[in-house]
Amino acid sequence: MRKFCKVTAECGYTWSTEINGTDEEIRNYFKIGSLINVGRGENDRMVKIAKVQISPDKGEFGGFCNRSACSEFPAVHYNAIMDKHYCAKCARSLNEQNRDLYPNGLVEKNPKQLTPELIDLYS
Ligand SMILES: [Zn+2]
Repeated sequence: MRKFCKVTAECGYTWSTEINGTDEEIRNYFKIGSLINVGRGENDRMVKIAKVQISPDKGEFGGFCNRSACSEFPAVHYNAIMDKHYCAKCARSLNEQNRDLYPNGLVEKNPKQLTPELIDLYS
């Protein structure tokens, strides 16, 4: 499962990355307290991992858009038929494609608000 995650080092350095794996695999990869090289090229820069934030699963509220070819986030538009979430762009195109069957729209913006944790993850 492809996830978006944000890693914070003890020194305050943060970076975001997309990674494949379960939450457990990602937490093992970015183990709290372990050292990781964030340097570029020949310049090593070791930092100690202090915090790892992981996005919800693809299609879940606040995760990647459910459309397989799309990796927009956070997905906050809800498709009740699929019980999955989509980005604004895919929600718009799904609504256009299904206008005949669902004149009021198939995918609607979920009234849920992103939690402070999710806002922090994507900022
Ligand atoms: Zn999308």
